[in-house]
Amino acid sequence: MTCIYCPSDGPYTEEHVVPAGMGGDDGKWLLKDVVCGVCNTDVFSPMETKVMRASPLAIARLFKQTRSRKRGKRTAAPSIYAPVSYFDDPQSGLLLEQELGSGGQSMVWPQVNYVPPERMTVSATDAASANELIRDLGALADLLTLCEKLRDGVEVRYRLTFLRWDGVAYQPGEVDSAAAAPRGAVWLEPLEYPNTETTGTLTARVFRRGRGAMTCRAEDVEAVASLLTLIRQNHPKLVVPADATSISTDTPGIHLRQTMDPVAYDRVLVKIGVNVCAHLFGDAAVRTPAFASARDYARYGTGSVVQLSIEEAKKFTEAFPVLAHHHLLLVATKTPEGEKPGCVMITMQFYGGLTHSYLLAVGDVVPNAADPIFVVVDYEANVIERHTPESFSRFAKRNGATWRPIDLAGGSS
Ligand SMILES: [Zn+2]
Repeated sequence: MTCIYCPSDGPYTEEHVVPAGMGGDDGKWLLKDVVCGVCNTDVFSPMETKVMRASPLAIARLFKQTRSRKRGKRTAAPSIYAPVSYFDDPQSGLLLEQELGSGGQSMVWPQVNYVPPERMTVSATDAASANELIRDLGALADLLTLCEKLRDGVEVRYRLTFLRWDGVAYQPGEVDSAAAAPRGAVWLEPLEYPNTETTGTLTARVFRRGRGAMTCRAEDVEAVASLLTLIRQNHPKLVVPADATSISTDTPGIHLRQTMDPVAYDRVLVKIGVNVCAHLFGDAAVRTPAFASARDYARYGTGSVVQLSIEEAKKFTEAFPVLAHHHLLLVATKTPEGEKPGCVMITMQFYGGLTHSYLLAVGDVVPNAADPIFVVVDYEANVIERHTPESFSRFAKRNGATWRPIDLAGGSS
């Protein structure tokens, strides 16, 4: 026997049917001795992390799921990766540097914005963190290394510009290049407007993400030199009084930019589908040629898997009860050509909204898939349950919701 996804004969590791970070079960819903450590750890885990940090699923998870997994030292609130993340501050009119945290809570980083021609604005969630930044900016060294990350295809290089204090101002000096970012450097990030920007002002600023390095967002090196000079000359005036105006975060406008890998997204969801089938029908079922396309697509990203349009998939999921669960529905269906029944389709609804349908097996029916199977993932309790249409209906009722039965026999065409 080999791994269900590749020719390796082990060693095997425990594979979560649904990733633990998405609320999967740590106990009963594990695949044992069927997925090798390479597939699990080297291929699937990084792909899942990517999808859980930068995709529509990542955003839904951030808002809906309060912790990334049930227990263990890795329990934490979900977070996302967004290289551009602005808080549209109604008071100052500035697009402020922020991070969107758990529950969609906006956290404004401590920052100093230069508003031409001669104003500087200090923003933070509280006076203490603002003043900590001002203090550190006042104590900047006479020689600074400004570091820019440059991407050339897959290769990453760093452009270094040295800023020297001449007693009056920071002067940009020699430029260098490095393969790694030097310690203690000040970062320069581009002044990027979000596509969704309407009224906010984006100006040169310096800020710090949590315990991270000092970061400037500015047009060029000269703009950074001017900004740091102004701050160094005026930093005692920038100290924030304890009773400074609080930023209202009741109805913020948020601008986020994420770079998503759409193939990784589909591969992760198809893999969940294959895993569910392996768990419900046994690993022998997913080893059949019927599942070959789905297996190879999940593992290698090769070939393709037929999927329904979101509108078509929603015909199955719009009848689902509105509960804090993922809903997965497996049905036997027709082939894409509408011929003999013999395919397995999975429709998944995540966090009450995101809906996807994939054709997992083509042409060779899995005996037990003749009846629709519901799989419900309680992502807050990390519990997964399997249901028949009847027990799913009772489950919905128990939770104060209703499930409107749909025509499952019709399937896709
Ligand atoms: Zn493998």
